[in-house]
Amino acid sequence: MIFSTVSQAPADPILGLTEAFKADPRQDKVNLGVGIYKDEAGQTPVLTSVKKAEAKLIEIEKSKSYLGIEGVQAYNRAVQTLLFGQDSDITTHDRARTAQAPGGTGSLRMAAEFLVNNTQSSTIWLSNPTWANHQNIFSSAGLSIESYDYYVPETQNIDFEAMLTSLANASAGDIVLLHGCCHNPTGIDLTQAQWQVIGQLCLDKQLLPLFDFAYQGFGAGIEEDAQGLRTVASLVPELIIANSFSKNFGLYNERIGAVTIVAESSESASRAFSQLKKTIRSSYSNPPAHGGLIVATILEDAALRSEWEQELTTMRNRIAQMRALFVQMLKDEGVQRDFGFIANQNGMFSFSGLDKAQVTQLREEFGIYIVGSGRISVAGLTKDNLPKVCKAIAHVL
Ligand code: PMP
Repeated sequence: MIFSTVSQAPADPILGLTEAFKADPRQDKVNLGVGIYKDEAGQTPVLTSVKKAEAKLIEIEKSKSYLGIEGVQAYNRAVQTLLFGQDSDITTHDRARTAQAPGGTGSLRMAAEFLVNNTQSSTIWLSNPTWANHQNIFSSAGLSIESYDYYVPETQNIDFEAMLTSLANASAGDIVLLHGCCHNPTGIDLTQAQWQVIGQLCLDKQLLPLFDFAYQGFGAGIEEDAQGLRTVASLVPELIIANSFSKNFGLYNERIGAVTIVAESSESASRAFSQLKKTIRSSYSNPPAHGGLIVATILEDAALRSEWEQELTTMRNRIAQMRALFVQMLKDEGVQRDFGFIANQNGMFSFSGLDKAQVTQLREEFGIYIVGSGRISVAGLTKDNLPKVCKAIAHVL
């Protein structure tokens, strides 16, 4: 049999955990593995702004005919405004081209394949640690992987000097993957001064920044979270951004993101984009429409946009509140270790410092599911499940 030589693949470290969670019969189990926002009631509801945009779309949609390879034009324009701001130098000089793509994952993969097929760039530098899927995406596309130092568990902080020392070993043409904000899994981002240094380093060493921007609005705000990207973009002639609206619009299963190529000139951007489109054509041909139409409808309508911004603010504030409560309740449970750092991290995740054995014990004994690295999805904590989670952590420590 042909398939008899196929070996069993290991379960995905994050999605495999969700499968195990679903199979767990315990009523009071808690899933803090996958990065999905939960509201106070533990639900992941459709945003009201999204519901309204969908109602509007059902009214006006006349055809399900194919989109162009690059997707919805209005969406792509709106993406550029979110990334670079109103009237940015990049858009004024027509240096960016955007293609709607299936989620952040699809966007990263298309960016990587474009680079492999059309440029001399063959090595990508990933932070240590990084989102578990980065390795798969980039090695599947044929890039060699290197890693740069980033996080130091002992200090629960970034070692920026070590990051620079690692990147000093990068060669001209190498790609540097940067998390635009809300670094996954550590929750610790570069400061503006550090972004400036990284931008200058990329310029000096001719490295290509590839931004993974999956959490715009989950850190400090829509504009604030784009500052790192904008700082680097103001320094380098070329970069790529892969962004996602899975989290900030709650459009997880619509698979909506985008690849944006910024080149040194309009002409160069058009040439690069023609090849990106060729890459897309041979992969999924053209993107599904619904997610892009929702995002474009919301961003182009002042009332819907304002409602979305409100909903995003609510999500961001709830996570911040859970962080503070988490730290406080661990203290109340008599935990000696200082978990104060959790309150200072950005975005959905906290790198808890819990080790593999503790993570296993939490799952087996208490039905609390956390990624093996100790990454906790704070966005999955609620006032209802926090006491159980904090008691269990106090127990395993
Ligand atoms: N990049 C990072 C850092 C992520 O955390 C995620 C989602 N977990 C993605 C990309 C992919 O997002 P999407 O679900 O839109 O593919």
